[in-house]
Amino acid sequence: RAKAQGRGRYVVFNESMHLQALQRLQLEQELRDAIDRNQLVLYYQPIFQLKTKEISGFEALVRWQHPTRGFISPDSFIPIAEETGLIVPLDRWVLTQATQQLAIWHQLYPHRADLTVSVNFSVKDLLRADLLSDLTRILGQTGLQGHHLNLEITESTLIEDIQAMVTILQQLKHHGFTVTIDDFGTGYSSLSYLHQLPVDALKIDRSFVMAMEANRRNSDIVETIITLSNRLGLAAIAEGVETEAQLCHLQHLNCELGQGYWFAKPLPAEEAETLLLSTPASTAATL
Ligand code: C2E
Ligand code: MG
Ligand code: MG
Ligand code: MG
Repeated sequence: RAKAQGRGRYVVFNESMHLQALQRLQLEQELRDAIDRNQLVLYYQPIFQLKTKEISGFEALVRWQHPTRGFISPDSFIPIAEETGLIVPLDRWVLTQATQQLAIWHQLYPHRADLTVSVNFSVKDLLRADLLSDLTRILGQTGLQGHHLNLEITESTLIEDIQAMVTILQQLKHHGFTVTIDDFGTGYSSLSYLHQLPVDALKIDRSFVMAMEANRRNSDIVETIITLSNRLGLAAIAEGVETEAQLCHLQHLNCELGQGYWFAKPLPAEEAETLLLSTPASTAATL
């Protein structure tokens, strides 16, 4: 009897796994179509200079407006895209859209031609041989310069092949692109690697920022990452800034840049543009 029950459970478990696999397969096919049919949308979250509260750029974040399932979060389809290789056309699509949008804003608002756009980039994509030619081609179509494009790469994936990564990052730097290590503090990057990696900024994971006021240890971690950035000559970006208290604390710690709901949620392009127009720009901007 116990055995029969055990077997019953085994079958149920198996069926649900089978169902999961089917759903995944279906999602994969639908994602493929979504890229072709422009069902993906980019939202833009402004990144602010914490001292002056000027917008320095936007992070492009992809959204999937599924015709029947509704909104699907990137956290649930990016992993599938990475496993299936769909991440390559997806990242190319995001790059094309984001740089075209930024070029439009530069043309409309020449006094803000210092604005940058940040795109999240999968390491799988970074390791592809055609990356640099694709990047320069896509950027070339817009008239933007390398430093207008910032690539965000998640920390946990960055150190899998450190030597290959150093080579690629050097090439990116040579073309003027900037690179940010995303979700910094959550991966396992050894600090000894950090000075070898030619990156431009560290983005402090929002889990630390959000727990800053509640927990002394988290605010110590945030402070340490900011100090580390300063020492290495990198910019520090705080993500997930939701309260005025967090903002004040970060300003006090001399964190250069920040983004989060306190400033703005990720917004559709038109709303991001409206926000841009209502936010003061530095008179010191030279471009
Ligand atoms: P991420 O790059 O670390 O992006 C930050 C995430 O935090 C975004 O979630 C953003 O909407 C959210 N966020 C921003 N401010 C706040 C805040 O104040 N509070 C809270 N609670 N959340 C905040 P989102 O848009 O769901 O993106 C999730 C992740 O999906 C991103 O994490 C990124 O790793 C990945 N992703 C998004 N778009 C792309 C893309 O185009 N390509 C690739 N390869 N990955 C992407
Ligand atoms: Mg990011
Ligand atoms: Mg992040
Ligand atoms: Mg992330």
